[in-house]
Amino acid sequence: MPLVVTGTIGIDTVYTPSGHAQSVLGGSCTYFAAAASFHAPVRIVAAAGDDLPAEHLETIRHFPGIDASGLEIRKGSKTFRWGGKYHDNMDRRDTLYTELGVLAEAPPKIPDKFRDSEFVFLANTHPGVQLGMLEAFPQRRLAVADTMDLWINTARPELDKLLSKVDGLVLNYDEAELLTGKRNSVAAARHILEMGPTFVVVKKGEHGSLLIHREGLGALPAYPAEQVVDPTGAGDSFAGGMMGFLAAAGAKHPGNGSRRGASLESLMRALAHGTVMASFNIESFSLDRLRTLTREELDARYASFAGMMRVH
Ligand code: AMP
Repeated sequence: MPLVVTGTIGIDTVYTPSGHAQSVLGGSCTYFAAAASFHAPVRIVAAAGDDLPAEHLETIRHFPGIDASGLEIRKGSKTFRWGGKYHDNMDRRDTLYTELGVLAEAPPKIPDKFRDSEFVFLANTHPGVQLGMLEAFPQRRLAVADTMDLWINTARPELDKLLSKVDGLVLNYDEAELLTGKRNSVAAARHILEMGPTFVVVKKGEHGSLLIHREGLGALPAYPAEQVVDPTGAGDSFAGGMMGFLAAAGAKHPGNGSRRGASLESLMRALAHGTVMASFNIESFSLDRLRTLTREELDARYASFAGMMRVH
């Protein structure tokens, strides 16, 4: 079933305890699309400036499942740039700079052939752009958004409106606290459910993820990774694995007569696919690991992760 994503194409500079990477390919849309493409074809709607290096474009085109015809390269504009530095335990990071570039201009155009998309992911970008995108897909069955501190702090009215219209929200535990003022992740997510979505996924880095759904709760550990080089894009590749799986499976409806949304059961499996995808992404800088990832490696790690739960 057609899956579409909008978000950022970024040029990142990242410092981690394992090393650093200068002006590498990043962006919420990029990580999401690369990850989702392992499960289902994915359409991207995004903009970049003509300063985007040719090899970065080539990396995006390297993934056969990505339809990049909605990627606008704007003459004279600057690509979104982000710099980040991770703390010693890699669980927290500081943003060193954010240069909006094209994000401060008109939103990217949506190709007409994308209008029939049924699965919609609004990766991190300005909530005003996310809202416009959402309304452009009238046949949507499942619309999920991500957000982060910058937008919670600077675009709250648009974000509140967005929350009243999406089926699900994916965010980090500290962002859930920032959004609701509630420290406890379950309490924060329940508060977010009152703002509109039928489910919230709270990501807790190496402590796994929580699913708070109107039907009930679910929890998953992170994949116990031995090698973490760069956590950048973990959240987006998690979301890509999750939405790609749901789009491929045609997501089971919640069973309440609604055509929209997804059941607790299918979402839990989707979260497991997201967890496994993110565990590969963090093994190297930028999209280097996703570029070499094979279907066999993905399937083997999913089977091993499923086996690790050892509970019935
Ligand atoms: P993640 O580690 O999953 O949160 O995603 C990191 C990616 O998001 C980086 O590659 C950045 O280019 C991009 N990014 C950072 N800040 C923002 C922002 N405020 N809005 C959209 N994308 C962002």
